[in-house]
Amino acid sequence: MMSYVNEYDTPECKTLAETAKKSIRTPESMGLDRCIQCGACTASCPAARFTDYSPRQIVKKVLENDRSVLESEMIWSCFYCYSCNVRCPRNNSPVTIVQVLRQMAINEGIGIEKLAYFLEIGECLAENGASKVPGAGIRNMEKDLGERWIGIKRNMEPIRSELGLSSRDFRDTHGEVQAILESTGYFEREKWIKARIQEKKIHGFLKTDLKTDCSKNEKKSGDFGFESDREYTGQEALTV
Ligand code: SF4
Ligand code: SF4
Repeated sequence: MMSYVNEYDTPECKTLAETAKKSIRTPESMGLDRCIQCGACTASCPAARFTDYSPRQIVKKVLENDRSVLESEMIWSCFYCYSCNVRCPRNNSPVTIVQVLRQMAINEGIGIEKLAYFLEIGECLAENGASKVPGAGIRNMEKDLGERWIGIKRNMEPIRSELGLSSRDFRDTHGEVQAILESTGYFEREKWIKARIQEKKIHGFLKTDLKTDCSKNEKKSGDFGFESDREYTGQEALTV
């Protein structure tokens, strides 16, 4: 389990805050200790708008060195839009902290199944030199964006042709992408992740299939009772 722990990414420290600050992901200027719990991050967070997720609470847990945060579903709600990073008046970066927490959780075997969603991206990148939206994401987009998105999908070929693009986004990278992924150990890590997910499945820890369906997690309450007094039902799907 520990063979993929990167000491630069998640250095072993006495507290969560120290690890977050010393991670190679973290800019030295990040104001974690300067957080005043103003909630501007949560107010600007799209994930918080539709769920009980709260970056402010995540930061609080880290400052309190509450390691239960690693087991929280909440650290998986962020989708790295960086709004919190831009809005924080104290130059803190909840999104960076979430990234470190996720990696720490994975190091401990917690939440590794969440990576199943992203494996499709790596596979497509290796094969075609281009990224993609994984299947579960497409299904959610159809649900959230409604007819407009479905219409674009149906007419993808003529739209691409009108833009002078080939029918699918294939790029001949002359093996360079594969070489980079190989030399950085991506394929080995991918194998390791798949094996761990499979192990968890076999031992009955996972109720869902390998292809994580994000829609099954919707409406899940925050396990910290995050902002639980907020009532926001979300917007209706965009239709044209
Ligand atoms: S916006 Fe910044 S200072 Fe305010 S709660 Fe969030 S992290 Fe803390
Ligand atoms: S980066 Fe994550 S925590 Fe920050 S605003 Fe976006 S979704 Fe919310």
